[in-house]
Amino acid sequence: MAKIEMKTPLVEMDGDEMTRVIWQMIKDKLITPFVDLKTEYYDLGLVHRNETNDQVTVDSAEATKKYGVAVKCATITPNAARMDEYNLKEMWKSPNGTIRAILDGTVFRTPIIVKGITPYIPTWTKPITIARHAYGDVYKNTEMQVKQGTKAELVCTDAQGNETRSLIYDFSDSDGIIQGLHNKDKSIASFARSCFNFALDTKQDVWFASKDTISKKYDHRFKDIFAEIFEAEYKEKFAAAGIEYFYTLIDDAVARVIRSNGGYIWACKNYDGDVMSDMVATAYGSLAMMTSVLVSPDGVYEYEAAHGTVQRHYYKHLKGEETSTNSVATIFAWSGALRKRGELDGTADLVKFADALEAAVISTIEEGVMTGDLAALSSIENKRKVNTEEFLDEVAKRIKI
Ligand code: NAP
Ligand code: MG
Repeated sequence: MAKIEMKTPLVEMDGDEMTRVIWQMIKDKLITPFVDLKTEYYDLGLVHRNETNDQVTVDSAEATKKYGVAVKCATITPNAARMDEYNLKEMWKSPNGTIRAILDGTVFRTPIIVKGITPYIPTWTKPITIARHAYGDVYKNTEMQVKQGTKAELVCTDAQGNETRSLIYDFSDSDGIIQGLHNKDKSIASFARSCFNFALDTKQDVWFASKDTISKKYDHRFKDIFAEIFEAEYKEKFAAAGIEYFYTLIDDAVARVIRSNGGYIWACKNYDGDVMSDMVATAYGSLAMMTSVLVSPDGVYEYEAAHGTVQRHYYKHLKGEETSTNSVATIFAWSGALRKRGELDGTADLVKFADALEAAVISTIEEGVMTGDLAALSSIENKRKVNTEEFLDEVAKRIKI
């Protein structure tokens, strides 16, 4: 059988621990037997990040801008324990943070739904994709604890040196706390465009919500920017695609989300996205079944699993013990990237292969073959718990192209 050709390379970002082990197995068992794989390889494993003073992370993000599509393995974000474990020169920053800053992207997280694993909200029969605006608000705040007798004001100095003052609170009756937040029109606009582009891409509605009735300037600005960009750039494209943009208040949104069947993109302000993504992920069953894609406003895509490097399983693996680590989200990162590459290059066979790979994963689990994390959740009868490698072999057997 002739292998499927690729016109343009993918940017491949290798990573750490158990997911690095799985990464190689996925390539060997599920990709290279079928595809004449072309990648530009970057080793984002912590050892190599340390050797390159983290330059490799920056290079991989620049390459992603050049080629348009990347697939990334989970990576360690160093903390104090990792400094010793890897004898690091510095506590390198989160690679995902570095890549996101360079691509100016928005992260979309989508659960993979299989029969036998019922969401805690049983009406959620289709995935809810959460898009989190990963800039500003409370994550870049300035806060103070103040004593009784303090008068707190918001002071702004414009480019000409003119001051505008506004009273926050006069703490004449108590000690208290204050907080200053900001966001940028530019960042909000990028967020809006990423959401609208991803909606067109995946043919799903976009919901966006804020608290503009209470926050008449701050949250209202988000609402206005989304509305202006939608009107000017996306309204017709959405109509042609048969999808909608829907704005409501955040409390109305959560009520509607619970009553919904899923199948849309929920664009969230930074804090809402932080909180709601954990709620949605848990409700769908497992972090190991959650995919993640970073989409830049100019249409660059980086695919990965939402979970981390599964450190505990890796240490078992190092001791020679058997592991049953779920590779589904990492496989879907590969299939997502290959599909996008195929779409951009006009290689229909590559798109078909991505579909076939995902279908094989789903049928493996729906036929009762799964890793331990899913076996604990699945209601399927005669299920069989397999180890990390067996699961991939079972998927490989089911790939039909
Ligand atoms: P984690 O790797 O997501 O794993 C946490 C726990 O969730 C695991 O111990 C395991 O539970 C379960 N789990 C997660 N993924 C699984 C899978 N594919 N199959 C089976 N079980 C799975 O999070 P962590 O242990 O907090 O973080 C480990 C490292 O990952 C850290 O160094 C962190 O910096 C990094 N991280 C990277 C990314 C990224 O690159 N995007 C994201 C998050 C974390 P049991 O142990 O109970 O089986
Ligand atoms: Mg969170």
